[in-house]
Parts: sequence; structure tokens; C-alpha cells
Amino acid sequence: MLSIYKNNCFMKKVIINPGCITCGTCEFIAPEIFEITDVCRVKKDAPIEQCTDTINRAIAQCPVQVIEKQD
Ligand code: SF4
Repeated sequence: MLSIYKNNCFMKKVIINPGCITCGTCEFIAPEIFEITDVCRVKKDAPIEQCTDTINRAIAQCPVQVIEKQD
């Protein structure tokens, strides 16, 4: 049986690997997912599965490519 999943809905987890330069780009693109305090972090209870498009955009725009999604 063929199943079609819209917007990569298997994305379950987003992590930020070492090397973030706290530029703020991901927070600007997806403020419901990322927050910057002294470091950049994924918000507790972030609605990851509802925001796959903006997360993918943040991943693409991160200047040091440290955002990683895990399906
Ligand atoms: S876009 Fe990348 S470097 Fe910039 S704050 Fe987010 S994780 Fe850090």
C-alpha cells in the first residue's frame, strides 16, 4: 500500500550540534521552534511536526550547518 506523507511529517526531533555561532537566523525563521539565550536551543515542547517547512528552511539557512533533524 502506498502512503503519502505531506511535509516530511516523520520529522520527530531537531538538535543543534556543537558549533552554533548564535547568529539568530533559525530563531528569526522559526521562533516557535528555536530560541536563543546564551546559546541556541530547541524550545521545550516545540511543535516540530507542525513546522517542518520552517525547520527545513532554518536548516538550509544556518550559516554553520549545525541544525540536524532526525526522522
Ligand atoms: S542558525 Fe545556526 S548558527 Fe545561527 S543560531 Fe541557529 S543554529 Fe546557531
